[in-house]
Amino acid sequence: MHRNLIAGEWTAGEDTIENINPSNTNDVVGEYARASADDAKAAIAAAKAAFPGWSRSGILERHAILKKTADEILARKDELGTLLAREEGKTLPEAIGETIRAAQIFEFFAGETLRLAGEVIPSVRPNIGVEITREAVGVVGIITPWNFPIAIPAWKIAPALAYGNTVVFKPAELVPGCAWAIVDILVRAGLPKGVLNLVMGKGSVVGQAMLESPDVAAITFTGSTGTGKRVAAASIEHNRKFQLEMGGKNPFVVLDDADLTVAVEAAANSGFFSTGQRCTASSRLIVTEGIHDRFVAALTEKLKTLVVDDALKAGTHIGPVVDAGQLKQDTDYIEIGKGEGAKLAFGGDLVKRDNPGFYLQPTLFTEATNAMRISREEIFGPVVSVIRVKDYDEALAIANDTPFGLSSGIATTSLKHATHFKRNAEAGMVMVNLPTAGVDFHVPFGGRKGSSYGPREQGKYANEFYTTVKTAYTLA
Ligand code: NDP
Repeated sequence: MHRNLIAGEWTAGEDTIENINPSNTNDVVGEYARASADDAKAAIAAAKAAFPGWSRSGILERHAILKKTADEILARKDELGTLLAREEGKTLPEAIGETIRAAQIFEFFAGETLRLAGEVIPSVRPNIGVEITREAVGVVGIITPWNFPIAIPAWKIAPALAYGNTVVFKPAELVPGCAWAIVDILVRAGLPKGVLNLVMGKGSVVGQAMLESPDVAAITFTGSTGTGKRVAAASIEHNRKFQLEMGGKNPFVVLDDADLTVAVEAAANSGFFSTGQRCTASSRLIVTEGIHDRFVAALTEKLKTLVVDDALKAGTHIGPVVDAGQLKQDTDYIEIGKGEGAKLAFGGDLVKRDNPGFYLQPTLFTEATNAMRISREEIFGPVVSVIRVKDYDEALAIANDTPFGLSSGIATTSLKHATHFKRNAEAGMVMVNLPTAGVDFHVPFGGRKGSSYGPREQGKYANEFYTTVKTAYTLA
């Protein structure tokens, strides 16, 4: 049984949960403790008690722990990637890639511990010096979703610790395995007791206790819009910092002058890889009329070649949907799309494989409009619609006509349109001739409008959230 970590002790919760493999629901990945609200309170108290020591710890100590963590994750990438693929359902190569990325993030923030600089500037008054420094915020609550079970925890835990914060970490209930593994690695790498606490369990119990605690100084959250709004409301109540990442309805524009192969590869990757379960996935393909029919035909041919099967099987391109609830959401949206009058051009059906799992064909709608629910609401599955437009101007207008603003892509060989799109796409990230998903670990990640709130994550920009600025004046 895998326990929670509270004040440096591996602690049983109020009950346990089985971690089930979505590729084979007979396969139990492991048994994991579920924390109570009181466990969450104890974890917060432990993090608060550990804060004075950790926030004043030497940067070399923090560097060494984060670097050691990176090294161990990398050394165990195949084993951890297999665990990830088993508990979440993305294919083994994708899962190993995500694990490597987690190692890279820890390595990056190990370096950042040595680079946190302030400013010394003259005062407008004579004989006074001004120093601007960044300090740790306090206890950081980390609430993560199931779709990137190792990378998202890494990109929140690594900067939180690097800048001297202590942490209470609540992973999604569906994917406790990778969460437990990285906490175990960090602890063995030398973290003092109470600096990092793991409370696995239900969002409505453990997450809610974190939202309600006045001792949590900052919360970083990735997940659904509904829960994000709860995090925001509770955080304003407690006057705490918060950062939200809440998904998207990312457009991918294909212009008449696009390289067809580039466009099809990017669209297939954006829409269907990782089973479409990425906040940066593109589920709206906005295609100008001169290339529309050729593009749809080529993408359909591509979809025929994609193998939906067990995440661990060699040759699988698309693993299962994460669980029964998400599968129902996906199939409900397929029915909604049909009902709204979109044309089902490919897929739409569940598929049976050797093992019982949540297998769904990649599904492509054509003749969709941007007013349809399938074009406006995040489905979070391998379900994509094509919207036909007359020209670039209409494509850009439709791309931006969405409540979200995370990632936005375009396939074009026109420098003029690529440049205009980069400047005018209302999104935090813009991709030219690249999938909307698939980002670097050392540069800012985040969006606009309904997708995100607060400072960017990742790269050196992460310090805006995980530190607070102090301005000190000294009379010479
Ligand atoms: P949630 O927002 O419910 O889950 C995200 C995290 O928040 C989980 O750890 C969850 O815990 C926790 N949580 C749930 N309720 C509370 C609460 N009251 N207080 C504090 N924390 C809470 O999203 P789901 O995982 O249920 O996914 C639903 C939809 O969200 C998806 O279909 C997709 O549309 C979107 N989504 C977007 C993601 C993104 O990357 N932006 C990632 C995942 C989902 P637990 O799950 O353990 O109950």
